Amino acid sequence: MLFDLHCDTILRIYGDQTQFRKNDYHIDSEKMIKGDSIAQFFAMFVDLEKTKNPYDTCNEMIDCFEYEIRENEHMIKAGTTSIDIEENYRSDKVTGIITIEEGAVLEGDITNLNHFYDRGVRSITLTWNYENEIGYPNCKETYMDKGLKPFGLEVIKKMNELNMLIDVSHLSDGGFWDCINHSVKPIIASHSNARTMQNVSRNLTDDMILALRDKGGVMGMNFCSFFLDGSEISKVSSIVDHIRYIYDLAGIDVIAIGSDFDGIGGTLEIEDMSKIYLLTEALLEDGFTEEEVDKILYKNALRVYSTVL
Ligand SMILES: [Zn+2]
Repeated sequence: MLFDLHCDTILRIYGDQTQFRKNDYHIDSEKMIKGDSIAQFFAMFVDLEKTKNPYDTCNEMIDCFEYEIRENEHMIKAGTTSIDIEENYRSDKVTGIITIEEGAVLEGDITNLNHFYDRGVRSITLTWNYENEIGYPNCKETYMDKGLKPFGLEVIKKMNELNMLIDVSHLSDGGFWDCINHSVKPIIASHSNARTMQNVSRNLTDDMILALRDKGGVMGMNFCSFFLDGSEISKVSSIVDHIRYIYDLAGIDVIAIGSDFDGIGGTLEIEDMSKIYLLTEALLEDGFTEEEVDKILYKNALRVYSTVL
């Protein structure tokens, strides 16, 4: 079973009006069934360089998500709670959960957070690779130590009140620590790996991983080769290496999956969601127990989800 904390499939479908049911992307309904998915975060990724109205664009993407859910109701259902996930699972359906990747869709207005909550959004990646009203991304050296802005602190408080999951992937290290210090609930890094293993700013330092664990959160393993080992091919063994490293450092409970499917290019050994069994096999071969593999693939994510929501 799989609970994946990040994919950009809706961006693809929204962009070229492909069908969710069957497509050439990493995720479609058939691949989800083959991958034994039980829950999937669908990120509404809004690129600020491509829109002047991030709030409107995000709403259109949610419209697209809702349309696809209606068209595929035989196998997927929108959900917001862990009870939804359980109920859908019992009727053989995947739960699709709406998330946002780019806090600028709030356009600096906290009431917009209520709006997106009402539309079913349950997690927000606070920044992508641009500075926004909330804070700074980790893609520029000069941003790294900068913390959240006053509106960012307001967003943290409100997300805690609404029981939404705060996602720090892409956020500056300074912003990460502000989330750790100010959030009263567990937070997640939906698609980030270990910086000691691959020294890129999108990955988390050892201290950050330990703090995330102590907060009760999880980090989703990203399948992008640039965040794994910098090689041409995204290798299963590299994903296992990151998992082994984080396990030795911080234990099993902080590790989850955030594939970044349909947000990443290049050659992937796990070609698409239908091939997720390759990771399961590699983890078992590496000596992880079945219970540990279950925690990595879905139980840890489910734990955080039911704690916060
Ligand atoms: Zn991302």
